[in-house]
Amino acid sequence: MELDIIDVSKNDRRPAPARSVPRERRPQQKGQVDRNRGGNPGTGRDPGRSPRRNPQRGQNGNIRRVSDRDLDRNMRRMPDRNPGRQFDTDSGRRGNRIPEREPVQAPHSRSGSAPVRRRSEDRRQQQERIRRKKKRRRQKAAVRAGAVFLLIAIIILLIFALVKLISGARERDVVQKVSAVSSVPRKELLKANKSTQKPVITEDFLTVNEFSRPGEELKKVNNIFVHYTANRETSAAQNRSYFENLGITGETSASAHFIIGYEGEIIQCIPLDEIAYAVQKRNYDSISIECCYLSEDGKFTDATYQSLLRLSAWLLKEYKLTPEDMMRHYDEGGKKCPLYYVEHEGAWEQFLRDLEQFIMDQENGSV
Ligand SMILES: [Zn+2]
Repeated sequence: MELDIIDVSKNDRRPAPARSVPRERRPQQKGQVDRNRGGNPGTGRDPGRSPRRNPQRGQNGNIRRVSDRDLDRNMRRMPDRNPGRQFDTDSGRRGNRIPEREPVQAPHSRSGSAPVRRRSEDRRQQQERIRRKKKRRRQKAAVRAGAVFLLIAIIILLIFALVKLISGARERDVVQKVSAVSSVPRKELLKANKSTQKPVITEDFLTVNEFSRPGEELKKVNNIFVHYTANRETSAAQNRSYFENLGITGETSASAHFIIGYEGEIIQCIPLDEIAYAVQKRNYDSISIECCYLSEDGKFTDATYQSLLRLSAWLLKEYKLTPEDMMRHYDEGGKKCPLYYVEHEGAWEQFLRDLEQFIMDQENGSV
């Protein structure tokens, strides 16, 4: 009895330490114990293996490490075979059915690398997307800038073309106007005019005075101006006296280099190397011819007209000019002088054509 009792007590005692050992271990093995309870089909092997391994490794107290290593091995193998899917399904199974430590641990260690990879992949993709977006934006901006540049270039070209077209049209108009008046090239006219003789001119220069003959030098001649006396039926001599008297009366400033009478006589009042007071803004680069007239409308007599042709042709020759350099006082300042050739534009153009013809005839010796 005593033995039995002792045995029992011994037995009781013996197992006690044995129990106490698992009790002590339990907290460590808790995960595995729980796993066994879980009876997870996915981890079904583990509960089977763990009891076998437990006595062996349990004694060493290495259960956790070993299981972790196994898990790690599995983890390393599994994601390598099929990283994305396996992680998802495994974690799903374990997460749902085993809410205890081990499943928590395992996914942690397992999923630890995969989400990181995923995150980094996500980041990479995001960065890639951002890069692409930026690239697209840059491309769009470049395309827009190119389009704007092209548009500006086209507009500039159009404006340039338009300006050229307008100026071309103007030039054509001018050429047409000139050609309507002159059909002979300038060179030819100058050549033909070389043989033009000086008409008969009476030199009766004015006394130098500040109102009609200032005595200032005329350095160049670009145009020949034609005037009318604005005093009908007065002779060339009378008009010369009028200019001469201005020096005494000081009534106004006026004069001209030549006066052509209605009988065709030509009086020169001022030497060709001096200026006359005839065209306000052009006194210093032009020569002026006054013409007498009998007609009320200011039309010149034939004699005056012929003398004007001869004098003009000779002056044009002297200064290497052509009929297109002949001007009405009206053309420089708008004064209605010579009246008839201002009111009859065609008559003026006819005069220029006649002058051209006169010059060409000079060459032929017919005049
Ligand atoms: Zn005038």
